[in-house]
Amino acid sequence: MRIYRPQGPPYLIWLKEILHSDHKIGTVTKEDVMRLTTRTNLAARILMACAVNPDRRLRTAEIADLCNCSTNHAAHVVQRLHAEGYLEAQRGRAGGIRLARAVPQVSIGAVFRLFESEIPFAECFDADTNSCPLVGTCRLRSYIRRALEAFYHELDLVTLDDLVRGNCGLTELLALHPAPPRDCVPGA
Ligand code: SF4
Repeated sequence: MRIYRPQGPPYLIWLKEILHSDHKIGTVTKEDVMRLTTRTNLAARILMACAVNPDRRLRTAEIADLCNCSTNHAAHVVQRLHAEGYLEAQRGRAGGIRLARAVPQVSIGAVFRLFESEIPFAECFDADTNSCPLVGTCRLRSYIRRALEAFYHELDLVTLDDLVRGNCGLTELLALHPAPPRDCVPGA
């Protein structure tokens, strides 16, 4: 099997789908894996939405609308990001969420790990639930590990600031009161 160099989130999804498409990973089904990956992506969208709206608190319904997801789904991810210190929340009529950290302090690699590390990438990565008979001799296992390390290493180099600064298109899509950014980078 060819080992591809990681190029971003689709790579991770590709690996999960292709390498273990008919595996059950411990007690986690393929559907759970896909749901978790969606949560990771949604977490990134929510952080970007907050970053381009720094002067206001976003409500869950606004986030769901901006991120094209259900309010339940948005609320679940917001709750996790809040619990981990990425967001601050305020209740009440004027309530909502906003970033709790400066954008250069938000590591995209750390956010991905937060949501992706809950389940083993392959069944054999969880010694308690593994039932794969190849675990003692499988070479694929170490290649997957290396690929994952490379994947996260690339994302560790990216901050929320890298995703939003000068990104006019993103601002147009996510800013609730858009204003032309001065440092707009064409084609960003
Ligand atoms: S030992 Fe190999 S085949 Fe078995 S789950 Fe791990 S990576 Fe997949």
